[in-house]
Order: sequence, then structure tokens, then C-alpha cells
Amino acid sequence: MDEVSGRIARAAARAGRDPRSVVLVAVAKTVAAAALREAVACGLTDLGENRVQEAETHVGALGRTAARWHMIGHLQRNKASRAAELFDLIHGVDSAALAEVLSRRAAAAGRRLPVLIEVNVSGEASKFGVAPDSLDPLLENVAGLPGLALDGLMTVGAPVGRAEDARSGFARLRTLRDRAEKTLGRPLPELSMGMSGDFEVAVEEGATLVRIGTALFGGRNVQGGTTCS
Ligand SMILES: *Cc1c(COP(=O)(O)O)cnc(C)c1O
Repeated sequence: MDEVSGRIARAAARAGRDPRSVVLVAVAKTVAAAALREAVACGLTDLGENRVQEAETHVGALGRTAARWHMIGHLQRNKASRAAELFDLIHGVDSAALAEVLSRRAAAAGRRLPVLIEVNVSGEASKFGVAPDSLDPLLENVAGLPGLALDGLMTVGAPVGRAEDARSGFARLRTLRDRAEKTLGRPLPELSMGMSGDFEVAVEEGATLVRIGTALFGGRNVQGGTTCS
């Protein structure tokens, strides 16, 4: 874990950024609860889940307040109510319909749920996220919902051979964020971008949340965990 944190800090320094402005979200995909507990004991503060059901198991095992819980995967509308209760931040809001369900549920619980809008910057048909051209209407919509706090944008980059190839997509997300701030007339501080293969480039381009699984926990379906060092 310290190795990944060190790489984040060095990337931040290269870009003249404060390393503390970047949060490491450890992606708990198929990682056993025991390994997550170990990671939290090492000082990890933020855990990312891509399935509501798996998140229920992890939250049940570690406790709701053991970490900040992030929903990073695609969220189906029929799971949105549960997600609104489980998570501290929803990264992948990409439709008005989903935003409305989340807002209604959070408002009923007396909460304002922090969310990010997912943008498909690479234009791949197979991926989720709103097209850059359709961002403006969704922005206005989400920003106007009483149960949500819109904090920024998120993207899942296209798989790239070299990390450097991801740079233009990350820069694009930052540009879209800067424009969205002008449209809404208020700050949107969070940029969720970068995974194991390209998080340093993402940090150089302004990421505030990097979502890292493999580089911390090893390959999928491993029972082993991360080590503090
Ligand atoms: C799995 C996943 C990650 C982490 O991927 P790694 O390459 O294992 O770091 C990040 N973001 C999303 C949306 C994911 O589904």
C-alpha cells in the first residue's frame, strides 16, 4: 500500500499538486473481507465496490463506519435505493432516471448523497457513462435534485496499452469539469479517474480520486491481501 501511495505522491509532485489532494480508493472487487480489514488497519480510508450485493457483505463484515464506501461500478436502477443507504459517494451516475431514484431515497432518509456524473470520454459504445455532448442537460438535472450533492465527474478510460495513451481522455474529463463549473456557477472539486495501469497519468492530469484494485491486492479472486509496505 505504501508503494502505491508513494507513486501517487510522486505523480502529484511532478504536477505541482499537494499529494493530500488525491484520495486512494482501494477497489475491493472480489477481495475477501479479511484482506479489506487488513488494508484498513494499514491506514486505507476509502473502499470502492462495483456490486451492491458484494458491498453489503463487506459493509456487514467491516462495519459502516470502518471506511468511506464508494460505489464505482455501473448502478442498476433497481439497486439504487439500497445503494443510496450503503454508500458515501456514488461515482457512476449516468442518467436522469437513476439520479432521481437516488435523490428520492436520500431525501427520504434526510441525506444529501454525494455523487459524480460518469462521462464516456473515449466514446466506446460498450461502456457506460454519458456522452460529452449530452453532459450539460444531465448536469443541470442532477444539480437541481434535493437529495444529491453533485461533487464532480468520473470516467472509466478505454483499456490502453501504455498508460500515456490514457492521458488525453483524462485531460478531456478535466476540461469538461472546468466547463461544467462555469455552466453551474459553482465548484465541482472531484475528478475520479485512473486505475492500476494508469493512475499516475491520471494524477498528473488532476485526479482527486484514483480507483485502484490490482496494484494493491494482486489479481482477481485472490484471498490474499495488501501489505502495509
Ligand atoms: C475494477 C475497477 C477499477 C480498478 O481496476 P484495477 O485495474 O484493478 O485497478 C477501477 N474502476 C472501476 C470502475 C472498476 O470496475
